[in-house]
Amino acid sequence: MLDGKYLYLRQENATITILVRLVRNKAMQLTFDGKTIDQLAIELIQAYNNSNEPYYGGFSGGKDSVVIYDLTKRANVPVDWHYNVSPIDSQEVRDFIKTYYPDVIWDKHAQGFFGKLFLTNGAPLRTQRWCCRVIKECGGEGRVKILGMRTEESNTRKHYKCFMDNPSGGNWLLPIVNWTTQDIWQYIAERDLPINPLYKLGFERIGCVLCPFAGKGDIKLQLHYFPKIVNAYKMACNRYIENRLTDPKRKEPKHKTGEEYFNWCISRK
Ligand code: SF4
Repeated sequence: MLDGKYLYLRQENATITILVRLVRNKAMQLTFDGKTIDQLAIELIQAYNNSNEPYYGGFSGGKDSVVIYDLTKRANVPVDWHYNVSPIDSQEVRDFIKTYYPDVIWDKHAQGFFGKLFLTNGAPLRTQRWCCRVIKECGGEGRVKILGMRTEESNTRKHYKCFMDNPSGGNWLLPIVNWTTQDIWQYIAERDLPINPLYKLGFERIGCVLCPFAGKGDIKLQLHYFPKIVNAYKMACNRYIENRLTDPKRKEPKHKTGEEYFNWCISRK
């Protein structure tokens, strides 16, 4: 259960942080050659589009997606934007995309997430992120994918470059790969872009509910705000453990109940 004081503080923090960002540092950060980082990103987007083939744009409804969407508009390059519908995304994310980005195409790759996929693979873990393969990384094979990934986000991403091979074919163009979170909020404020309402509730990252890469604070908020998804997750954990305990072909699990397994998964051990 989320304690009231914690929730209040997260809301206060989010609101204050956004407000501070709105009023300070009005000019975007400069690069070595005196260009602002958004100018540089636009030039990169244009430079890699010399064949004029449309980019495949990955759109998740988070702050980084909103920024790259706007940068490509300013760069005036063709892009078809895709949202990979995640069975563990909140309704708020879907409503936000529907309302503010109606041209984004909704692709459904992850059918059966809480069924066969969960039963076979177990809950997504940091060491076992099968979910990204079936939810987030599908689509745009063989094309240049324009994505909002940034080095700051994880150890894996810290070596990413603005143009790189896509492990499953084609290339990735990451125009904001070196932007900080501060740069992102500043750009959103300067350009007056829509803000996903979940940030105003205190979420640091918008993404799949109970993602193994979410911080403890976001997990707390998710348990509070998204009981339906949490419940579906708990039931899938129960089925997974029952199956492991009763199927003679499978190794006996370390956890003896779905509840124990669920609690272990969200404790990030
Ligand atoms: S839960 Fe996390 S790791 Fe899994 S698909 Fe979603 S974002 Fe990727």
